[in-house]
Formats: sequence, structure tokens, C-alpha cells
Amino acid sequence: MTVERHEFASDNATGICPEAWAALQEANADYAPSYGEDRWTARVCDRIREIFETDCDVYFVFTGTAANALALAQVCKPFQSVICHQHSHIQTDECGAPEFFTGGSKLLLVGGANGSPQRVRPGTDKIDIAQVEALLARQNELHSHQPGAISISQATEFGTVYTREEIAAIADLVRAQQLFLHMDGARFANAIASLNCAPKAITWQAGVDVLSFGGTKNGAAAGELVIFFDKKISRDFDYRAKQAGQLGSKMRFLAAPWLGLLTGDVWVRNAQHANRMARRLACRLRKEAGIESVFPVEANAVFVSMDEQLAGGLHARGWRFYKFIEPDVYRLMCSWSTTEETISSLLADVVAIK
Ligand SMILES: *Cc1c(COP(=O)(O)O)cnc(C)c1O
Repeated sequence: MTVERHEFASDNATGICPEAWAALQEANADYAPSYGEDRWTARVCDRIREIFETDCDVYFVFTGTAANALALAQVCKPFQSVICHQHSHIQTDECGAPEFFTGGSKLLLVGGANGSPQRVRPGTDKIDIAQVEALLARQNELHSHQPGAISISQATEFGTVYTREEIAAIADLVRAQQLFLHMDGARFANAIASLNCAPKAITWQAGVDVLSFGGTKNGAAAGELVIFFDKKISRDFDYRAKQAGQLGSKMRFLAAPWLGLLTGDVWVRNAQHANRMARRLACRLRKEAGIESVFPVEANAVFVSMDEQLAGGLHARGWRFYKFIEPDVYRLMCSWSTTEETISSLLADVVAIK
């Protein structure tokens, strides 16, 4: 029987990292106040303010979908729209949660700079400002949704990273149009590891108003943060989160693993490791199997095109991974726990099948 191997399926297929696990265990030792009144929650919020070097407002939710949808609901009225990439997670993978929680907002989709995303090329992974401008110019007052926010993913769904300058350029447009800028940071850690910059440099300093900061893919069991960089915007968000069923009563078990990640910058080290493994995987696929990455490998994902024989052969040998773009582009994902041995094992199978 073939053993199923999920190592490259997603960065949420892996376990809880040792530091998060130890913190969870420590939080389990005794009784503690509920609903976020505990010391772990307070320390995570303080540590976030330290890491981002600003007095921001921090909230816990259970999933990235909840973080994104509730953040957008906070900055968008029901008659307003959210401009985002056509392959963004909020568009393709959240079952309409942003539309549902905003109570009527519409997602307005734009593509990448290099034309059709069906023809996969670098540049199709990030939103193209010219397309955003054209879209804004087309919005008829009163008869169409009023633009409310722009949402970008950092790192992107294609494993690339917006530079500080690219974010600032989008933020300029956001300010000029009096919109809000939301960042889906399910892989924010990987972006920080990739850019090697201070978290503030690509968030509030660059013009981001609200960040969904992901812990799950970085090494926690669950739990994402919604971070508001302007307290005027976060008003009554606690009620919004509670109404959506996102206020954990045993909050310390969401918070403690986060504390494990944020203490001693484990979150950055986990992401650096995942990114390094992705670069290693891409490099070995190129050198040992002649397979080129479709997108620049800037975070922890490697996208490659595989013919049916190769993809089918790998599946038959137990490897689990997803096709991301038709007809033949697949995603191989690395995480804090990816090892060189696993990469060697995959490569051996790739070479054997080819
Ligand atoms: C994983 C992911 C999320 C969060 O997904 P959930 O399954 O709701 O936790 C959000 N955005 C992006 C880009 C993701 O990859």
C-alpha cells in the first residue's frame, strides 16, 4: 500500500512547531481568566505592539477567513466594494465570507500587470495599479458599489512578495481615493523573512490600515490576528468578532502558541526556514530534473508545470499536492518542518518518473 505524503500539500498540513507546543502546554497548567482576560493574550498584544513599533489594536480570531472577512467588514459599508486580485484568497477560497460579513460589499477583481493570468508569467501574481485606476475611473457614482478598500495578499497566493515600494504605490492610490488598505497576511511571516525588513516598513509605515496576520501556517494550531494600525478604525470590532462567533472563551489556548511564535522571533525563523526550503526545492528541481519554477520563489511556495505522467506518477507514489492553475501548474508548499531529506525523497521520485 502506498503511504500518503502530505509534506508539500500545504503549509497547514504540518504540525504545531515545538515552541508553540511548549507554550500551549505551559498555558494548560492551571486555571486562568476566560475571554481574553488572561495574561497570554495580554502579552501577545504587547509583543505585537513591540514588533510593529506602534500602538496598534490586536484581536484574535480562529481562521484566516474570519480575519479577512471581519477586517473588511470593519472598513467597508455594505454598499462599498473591495478591490482585489482575481486569484486572491478572499475571492477564490472564502465561500463569500467577505461579502457575507460586510453585508453586501462586492469584490471587484483586477489581474496582474502582464496581461492574462491564464498565461502564467511573473507579474500576473500581484494587482496591477493601472487596472485598479481604470476600474476606479469606471465606477459610476450611485449606480455601482462605492469603492471602499483595496485588499492585497502578502505573501501572494503565488508565492511572491510585494516590495515596500509596490505597497506604497498602492497606498498612494488608496489615500488619493480615500479608501482603506487591507493586507491578507496569512503568510506575512514569509514576506518579512523574504524582504528582511521591519514589520512596520510594509504595514502602517507603507499605508496599510488593517492586517490579517496568520499564525496557523507559521506553526500554530489555529488562530490569526487582526491588527488595526489606527484605533479610530477598530471601534467596536470586539462586538463584530463576538457576533461572528470569533471570541474564544478559552482564549489563552489561541494566545499561548502565538506567544511561543513571537518570543525570540520564532515566527521569523520558521518562515526563513520555510522560504529557504522552497528555494532549495526549486533549485534542485531545476538542476536535477530540468523543471523551472513558474513564478519567482520569494516565499515558501514553488509553482511548477508538470505533465500528466509526472503529476500522476507522483500521486501514485503517495505525494499529495494541488493543481493551482489549469492546465498543468502545481503548487509545492514548504513549511517550518520541511526537511532536506523530504526534498531529496521527492526529487528521487521525480527523477525516477521522468
Ligand atoms: C490560508 C490562507 C488564508 C486563511 O485561510 P483559512 O483556511 O480560513 O484559515 C487566507 N489567505 C491566504 C492567502 C491563505 O493562503
